[in-house]
Amino acid sequence: MYFDYCASTPVNPEVLDIFCAVSKNMYANPSSVHKLGYQASSLIEESREKISKLFKIAPSEIVFTSGATESNNLAILGVVRASRKVFASPHIIISAIEHSSVYSCAEYLKKDNVEVTILPVDSNGLVSIKQLEESLKENTVLVSIMYANNETGVIQPIKEIGEMLKLHNQVSFHVDGVQAVGKMEIALGSIDLFTFSGHKIGGPKGIGALIVKSNTVIAPIIWGGGQEYGIRPGTENVPAIASLAHAVEICILEQLSRTRHLQDIHHYIYNEIRSIPELEINSPRGHLCAPHILNFSYRGVPSSISINILTQKGILVSSQSACSSKSNKFSRVLLAITNDKDIASSSIRLSFSEATTFSDADVLLQEIQDMVKQIKTNGKYSYA
Ligand code: PMP
Repeated sequence: MYFDYCASTPVNPEVLDIFCAVSKNMYANPSSVHKLGYQASSLIEESREKISKLFKIAPSEIVFTSGATESNNLAILGVVRASRKVFASPHIIISAIEHSSVYSCAEYLKKDNVEVTILPVDSNGLVSIKQLEESLKENTVLVSIMYANNETGVIQPIKEIGEMLKLHNQVSFHVDGVQAVGKMEIALGSIDLFTFSGHKIGGPKGIGALIVKSNTVIAPIIWGGGQEYGIRPGTENVPAIASLAHAVEICILEQLSRTRHLQDIHHYIYNEIRSIPELEINSPRGHLCAPHILNFSYRGVPSSISINILTQKGILVSSQSACSSKSNKFSRVLLAITNDKDIASSSIRLSFSEATTFSDADVLLQEIQDMVKQIKTNGKYSYA
């Protein structure tokens, strides 16, 4: 039973049909100037328009990429590159709990004459707007704060941060919205750059987008044939772009009912897990938490052990971001939130979708209770 929808989602069957049909029939290069080429480029523009309407922005503000990792890199490296005309050493601000595609990018930039501020978060995982404002400098060109964290689900005060940043003209505001699209209402109001990814919302892997508002100064980070307004050259992935547009449409149109269902499931599982004395919940409560993510720790029991036991019982979960879980023993995100290595090395992330039912939740909870009993009886080292 799958409880790892944050890592990836199954492709929606309607989306898959589009992917197959376009792959089969629209094989021409969209830059070709013959009939089939025009058909392919028209489909890209229709898809762009569809997404732009859903996000209430102009079609030209959407840049298709290979996914959120690329979108995050493009936003950060692209704004920094463009700013070098003004500042030899620009300054950027990110939070301590950003996804590795933002965090590692900032770490890399430190070695490239960029000043980087990594904002701490409080015990709920929230950044302080006051501290953020105090960190702004005359050479600050970018602030990158994620909408909803992919490990604990904590939702940042994006609207308020954006409004504060609007008072500081030269600063672009980037938001990694991967875990927010389709899970909450998103207003792009004062956001300048917004990342999202296909495979987190029922679309295929290898496709995503960066929304770049028209007033934002950004430079490309790769060079080629000038596609995607020259910001992201390379032959467009036409089947994936058409599929992404449909996946975005479904998840935004169904967002309200999906969110209500997820909130009910979340509330139910949260209360049950809270009643198991050995487990400590790391996700914030209520409206501070994305409705599809619930993170807890079994102190002293490494995540890999709990995950293996649950896997043997047919329950598929993660500990941290799938992108980092093979290389890290503990979660950087949870360490930043809790300052407790025991918690950060024993975390389990459950993530749900609109397809998750209450009977799935009951099976999950039963297996978690059995796991706790099993570890208490046998000791964690018998599983190492
Ligand atoms: N940002 C967040 C918040 C994510 O959860 C992920 C996926 N783990 C990414 C970025 C990277 O997404 P992609 O797999 O599309 O590169």
